[in-house]
Amino acid sequence: MEIAIIAHDGKKAEMVQFLNEQKDILHKNEIELVSTGTTGAKVEKAGFIVTKFLSGPLGGDAQIAARVAEGKCNMVIFFRDPLEKHPHEPDIFMLMRLCDVHNVPLATNPATAELLLQNFK
Ligand code: PGA
Repeated sequence: MEIAIIAHDGKKAEMVQFLNEQKDILHKNEIELVSTGTTGAKVEKAGFIVTKFLSGPLGGDAQIAARVAEGKCNMVIFFRDPLEKHPHEPDIFMLMRLCDVHNVPLATNPATAELLLQNFK
């Protein structure tokens, strides 16, 4: 089970907090985390094992979108910052579109992400 985690800068602390709260579920279910570069670095510092791709603005979201399209990624947790503009908006939309194309669960806020992970309890 592979879960991609991505958080915009204003949401990175929230992502680390979320993962800490969900630590047991992640561990018990042997969930493998993949992420965009900077999110991954933050999450690693907090003690998680994560496979890092490029930073989002440099193509990391597009790399994760490709994994969704190839059937390698089973869920995406993407804490977007709706109050900021992002230069890589087209990549972000591509990732969300491909989640819908391939029916891959996509959570864009902690409340939804928590509901998705409760499925594994
Ligand atoms: P980052 O990318 O984890 O490298 O900051 C996230 C994003 O903005 O898509």
